[in-house]
Amino acid sequence: MTPGSGFKVARIFGIPIYLHSTWVVIFALSTFSLGTLFTQKYPHWTTMQHWGVGLLTSLLFFGSVLFHELAHSVVAQHYKIRVVSITLFVFGGLARIARDPSKAIQEFNIAIAGPLASAFLAGVFLATTLLFPSSQMTRALATWLWQTNAALALFNLLPGFPLDGGRILRAIVWGITKDHSRATRVAGTSGKLVAYGLMAGGGFFFLKGDWQSGIWLAFIGWFLLNAAQESVAQVAMRQTLSGLNAADVMSHEIPTVEGQIALEEYGAEVLRTGRRCHLVLHGERLVGMMNVHMLNSVPREEWAHNSVQSAMIPRERILWAAPEEPLLRLLERLLAADINQMPVVSGAENGGSHVVGMVTRDSILRVVQNRAELGPVVSGR
Ligand SMILES: [Zn+2]
Repeated sequence: MTPGSGFKVARIFGIPIYLHSTWVVIFALSTFSLGTLFTQKYPHWTTMQHWGVGLLTSLLFFGSVLFHELAHSVVAQHYKIRVVSITLFVFGGLARIARDPSKAIQEFNIAIAGPLASAFLAGVFLATTLLFPSSQMTRALATWLWQTNAALALFNLLPGFPLDGGRILRAIVWGITKDHSRATRVAGTSGKLVAYGLMAGGGFFFLKGDWQSGIWLAFIGWFLLNAAQESVAQVAMRQTLSGLNAADVMSHEIPTVEGQIALEEYGAEVLRTGRRCHLVLHGERLVGMMNVHMLNSVPREEWAHNSVQSAMIPRERILWAAPEEPLLRLLERLLAADINQMPVVSGAENGGSHVVGMVTRDSILRVVQNRAELGPVVSGR
């Protein structure tokens, strides 16, 4: 799942809330199973009541998941960490924050806020069942919601990355050892154990004949396993790139083309040289940047009578990097803007700016690869 994908439904505390396409599936499923459950349990209700209460319960459940994610987000914002988005998808919610917390205690508080929020809601719905004992529909709805929120709180406390419990575990190990990468490895390993445990539990249910729970558990386990591996790989990459900046990996060779040439001719140039990105000049003056991606956005039959200048990224819309920009931040900007390369400009702040090189995603990945191969030598592990 790509973060922030899906359709935007609201903005709360300045945070855009997205519904992922898989959310629709799970919302329909949960409404259906709740309607069926209420039909079996309360046969004297009308059909309208079964499905009405089912739908309302389902909506409140997703409200509960959102509340859980908002709790994480509010604490993150308290530490001046920007919350990029909250996405509701098939396995619940995901709050994306702009950077990792810089202190163990911050990570601990951000992580524990979610399960605490779910536990709070469980308490509220439990109280509702006690306060309105005579209304069967309110009781049915509140009973399911307090149990589900309690389960959500407990499940999220499982000590495996990337669950909240895994983050809590990482924060504790980080706080004690002062070693962030070691803490991540510990939380990653325990995340894998939790994932295998869930998958084994799924297999057990499956063999017992409860194949629905079995498949569901195994599916969640599989998802967590992937997520755990991904999180650990991400941290490893961060470590590899730390201490490097744009000037370390940029190529000094900066291919240029004239703005007036036809796209046809530009295509031939790309094929001939294998270079996929060029700065566009008008005489001596820099006017923009051209690449294969922009070339392909123009239909092929129009290449003959369109110039590079008409298809390029104009100068004012090019994203630049400074030579001293940390590589990690640069990579994040490349990924965020979904572009493959960025010109490196020196002296931009004192007006005498000129392009000194070009950084591409490939060149950054090559560094990661080289360092991974030579890692033990370089880091002295
Ligand atoms: Zn959470």
